[in-house]
Amino acid sequence: MDSLVEKIEALQKISQELEPSFKERESLNEQIREFANHFLDNLEAYPAYVEKDAVVEKLTFNSGKKTLKELLTNFNSEVVLKGIKPASGKHLGYVPGGGIYTAALGDFLASVTNEYAGMYYASPGAVTMENELLNWMKKIFNFPKEAVGNLTSGGSIANLIALTAARDKYQIKNDKIQKSVIYLSPQAHHCIHKALRIIGLEDVKVRLLELDEFSKINTEKLAEIIQEDLKNGLNPFMVIASAGTTDTGAIDPLSAIGEIAKNFNLWYHIDAAYGGFFILTESKKKLFKGIEFADSLVIDPHKGLFLPYGIGAVLIKDKKAVFHSHHYTADYMQDANTVAAQINPADVSPELTKHYRGLRMWLPLQIHGLEPFIASLNEKLLLTIYFRNKLKIAGFELGPKPDLTISYFWYPSKKIDENIFNEKLVEFIHANGDVFLSSTKIGGKFVIRMAILSVRTKKETIDTAIEMILKCLMQTKEYF
Ligand SMILES: *Cc1c(COP(=O)(O)O)cnc(C)c1O
Repeated sequence: MDSLVEKIEALQKISQELEPSFKERESLNEQIREFANHFLDNLEAYPAYVEKDAVVEKLTFNSGKKTLKELLTNFNSEVVLKGIKPASGKHLGYVPGGGIYTAALGDFLASVTNEYAGMYYASPGAVTMENELLNWMKKIFNFPKEAVGNLTSGGSIANLIALTAARDKYQIKNDKIQKSVIYLSPQAHHCIHKALRIIGLEDVKVRLLELDEFSKINTEKLAEIIQEDLKNGLNPFMVIASAGTTDTGAIDPLSAIGEIAKNFNLWYHIDAAYGGFFILTESKKKLFKGIEFADSLVIDPHKGLFLPYGIGAVLIKDKKAVFHSHHYTADYMQDANTVAAQINPADVSPELTKHYRGLRMWLPLQIHGLEPFIASLNEKLLLTIYFRNKLKIAGFELGPKPDLTISYFWYPSKKIDENIFNEKLVEFIHANGDVFLSSTKIGGKFVIRMAILSVRTKKETIDTAIEMILKCLMQTKEYF
């Protein structure tokens, strides 16, 4: 017995290391705080993109102890100073967000308290907070109170949960799979195709719909194709619209598609991961008319609310359809099986134990109030116009007037094939890296894409971007 106690005590001495004292915590906090402050205060000076590989040796885990100082040095040189800087306002590629500081503080508290946000029983407060955020989103998008929702890790998992509910509601399985049809835009996000494979619907028929000149779904054709499919004995079951495509930020005609979905009894899914929160702006609100017809909806707070990566959201009207795959009971969960006053996040998601994501959204919204978030969205809309005006003056061709803050442009080179010219231009832009822009293909044409959604993108950032683009344009002209 004594030797057992001795052994425990010996181990305790070692494991105690994992529980820093007040003084040690203060010292660690101070170093992290200093690092974070230095990062934020110098962020503007960092290039938005550094094309460099990470040195593996500096990041390899080995089992000995290291000082935080030493670790932060490697973190800085290998992680912070390489690749794309998503926190930078000069990140104008893909879909940025920025990552506001108060959300990081929410994450800190979520980790320290380590609340169990999967079950109401375990943390009624954490689950209520998350459900209140979902209720707020239901209100914004005119969803009924009875709808269920989940704060996911991002838009991909949110889409996965929504499509799973659609599959289960329409019982798309066995022989039905190959006869079933889904309708969507060729510009729908690729995570939808991934989700279909994951949930066993790889073999459904996917009809890529025709788009108009603004890259929006042509709804007249849609009804025709559905009728044709019905005539041929197929099983149309879902139509997917985007409220802000990734390529061009286009918002599909949501009302008209909703009408068609209703007429043909289809599940109506809308992916508003990028565009959703623009519904909060007076000038764009009307473009979202009809979003309330959706059976399921995806919105990404780590895009439109500028939160750090790691938070998406899904809303679904049919609770039963969601519960079919996600609600499960097990003997070891019997204590949790009391009738909960709130929906358990674990019943709306593949996750059981989950990060307590609500706090990183709730805290910033409550500390700052909603107004600066809306002002920031409006600011991004105007900066998009500002950027396009400047590009036009500089001799660039512009894609059509965007619905939101994603747009594209290219240089109309006369001397050399436009695609080849603009590809080279993007190479120079990436090699420069001060401001980061990505590229895409629109109807086979190589174009440069700008996505203005970082909370830190300001008028001065756009001026810097123009300066850099003109410099790279000169280099490209010299090259050819
Ligand atoms: C970003 C995005 C996604 C994917 O979301 P993640 O958060 O990256 O997983 C899906 N759809 C659209 C329209 C997006 O913009």
